[in-house]
Amino acid sequence: MASQFCLPLAPRLSPLKALKSHFRDIQVGICLAIQRSDKRIHLAVVTEINREKSWVTVEWIEKGVKKGKKIDLESIFLLNPALASAEHTTTLPRPLPSLSLVPSKAIGDQRTSPRWIVVAPQKNKTPSGDSSVLGVPTSPCLMKRKKSPCLREIEKLQKQREKRRRLQLEIRARRALNVNTGNPNFEIMRMIEECRRHLDKSKMSIMEPLEDHRICVCVRKRPLNQRETTMKDLDIITIPSDNVVMVHESKQKVDLTRYLENQTFCFDHAFDDKASNELVYQFTAQPLVESIFRKGMATCFAYGQTGSGKTHTMGGAFSGTSQGCSKGIYALVAQDVFLLLKNSTYENLDLKVYGTFFEIYGGKVYDLLNWKKKLQVLEDGNQQMQVVGLQEKEVGSVEDVLNLVELGNGCRTSGQTSVNAHSSRSHAVFQIILKSRGKLHGKFSLVDLAGNERGADTAKANRKRQLEGAEINKSLLALKECIRALGQNKPHTPFRASKLTQVLRDSFIGQNSSTCMIATISPGMTSCENTLNTLRYANRVKELALDVRPYHQCLTPIKHETPPMFEKHIRNSEISLQREELVKISCIQSEEEKRSEAIATLATPLIREAVTTWKDSSSWWESIQETANGVNYDVDFCIAQSLSILEEKIGILTEIQTKLKLLRVDLQNQEQVETLA
Ligand code: ADP
Ligand code: MG
Repeated sequence: MASQFCLPLAPRLSPLKALKSHFRDIQVGICLAIQRSDKRIHLAVVTEINREKSWVTVEWIEKGVKKGKKIDLESIFLLNPALASAEHTTTLPRPLPSLSLVPSKAIGDQRTSPRWIVVAPQKNKTPSGDSSVLGVPTSPCLMKRKKSPCLREIEKLQKQREKRRRLQLEIRARRALNVNTGNPNFEIMRMIEECRRHLDKSKMSIMEPLEDHRICVCVRKRPLNQRETTMKDLDIITIPSDNVVMVHESKQKVDLTRYLENQTFCFDHAFDDKASNELVYQFTAQPLVESIFRKGMATCFAYGQTGSGKTHTMGGAFSGTSQGCSKGIYALVAQDVFLLLKNSTYENLDLKVYGTFFEIYGGKVYDLLNWKKKLQVLEDGNQQMQVVGLQEKEVGSVEDVLNLVELGNGCRTSGQTSVNAHSSRSHAVFQIILKSRGKLHGKFSLVDLAGNERGADTAKANRKRQLEGAEINKSLLALKECIRALGQNKPHTPFRASKLTQVLRDSFIGQNSSTCMIATISPGMTSCENTLNTLRYANRVKELALDVRPYHQCLTPIKHETPPMFEKHIRNSEISLQREELVKISCIQSEEEKRSEAIATLATPLIREAVTTWKDSSSWWESIQETANGVNYDVDFCIAQSLSILEEKIGILTEIQTKLKLLRVDLQNQEQVETLA
């Protein structure tokens, strides 16, 4: 901001007289602009005045040497015209920060009138002609018209600096833009961020957690790992509330524009990437622990794609290749079991705790506590499944349990897949068994399932890997059916369909069985298909458990006629309905989705191929309609074209039919071979 200084008015006189009269204004100590013999103009301090002969002497410092010069009246007024102006009252420009204004008296002026000059805070008060300016004249006009070279230099440097900074900022902004635009998923990322910003989370977090834990299905999202971050993978999973999971699927239109398809799923609980194992445990396995003290059979499954965090959840966090099992669900269950054991309610039961650890790989059972000894699964006279020879180790403390887990983990079968070095193609079952006077009292089975991925990983894998995949699919399908049967309280449980469900038979039978499933998902866009498969599977498990009757029936007052078991489901259904109203999201898959999921579940690369062929050509009906609706259409041509399209489609369908039949025979043969073995 400009400061304003008023200078006294000079009297109005004739031009010649005026010059002389103005000459009187020049005082010793003020600064004047002078011109050197080499034409340079700079400031100098008046040191002597000869008013009669009309000249002054001025001095300045040049390269450390004091110099002086005599100047006549004309030269003074030529170079300092402001001195000759009639009026001196004007506005002084703002002094430089390094300069200060002092009354001219301060440097030897004899006059008492208030005259001001600008002085730089330097010891040497003589201005130099080249760089260091000590003083500037009081005259505002001088200030305006003549800037010292030094000031000019400073200004020039300042301008250059500003220009450089501007340029650097521009370069940085351009670089950032390049990074983003260089990422092919930049547009999708922007859309996901936009979607997250507009999510009304307040509406999604008012639901109460379900109390019924007979079947509880939760989802856990893990953070993006280092590899995904390096590959610039995108986090496409949003957990807007504690029981809703949203998948932002990137899709492409025919005109190649990309768009987001957001799919929303609802579960008992949804945990985001910041949730700890303890928190997950608190809402999943922990509520089931006490049931085993009341002769219950509890089961906790970790289900998901390889690398999505099943083993991390069940066994504990990895540090390098070693696993800290003290923070896994195995250890947390053990902790609570030993706590409850001291509870007075259960003291007199004389309970003893045992641990077993085995894995199911390729339909065979191996004891992980006995050097992976192959075990037989047989059905006894009471229709109980027995794993013959399975080691049951008695444990007296949490440490004992951790030792068993470590021992078993060391033995686990693991194969390398493209997803994760710790991946496992086997189901690992860790059981904590309570026995009272030698008889089975209760059992908690903790199952770290094999990776559920199919598609890419198995399609290009060798035959052994494909068989592994088929076996895993079969057991996961059977597992789903068994949980469905448990949820629906069906008299028949199809546990014989796989080794996994055979050995877990008593977990699905009886009123005292309860199950929780933790579906683990990877957040990356590259895992989208597997993540959706996991969520659909988990959703189906819960949906079927809830979907005992249509919603409108559930809400009619028929509860008193309903068996107590069903009441729980009805309550769940009511809550579920409220959720739907509140969140306005449908968790029930459309018929189309169900169909494609059923196909996807069956899918071997063979069927997938056929399904894709069919899907790709599904616009055939539109083609026929288009031809028929065309102006001036040729009937013969239209019929011929329609017949040709239909023939092609019939061919595709027949091919799919043949392939499916072959696959069925293959599966039946395989089952026969297994039964004989
Ligand atoms: P899976 O058993 O499903 O194949 P893992 O449990 O082996 O997957 O997890 C794969 C990697 O991801 C491991 O390095 C693990 O430490 C890491 N991981 C999984 N879940 C989480 C999580 N919730 N938080 C941090 N890291 C995780
Ligand atoms: Mg694992």
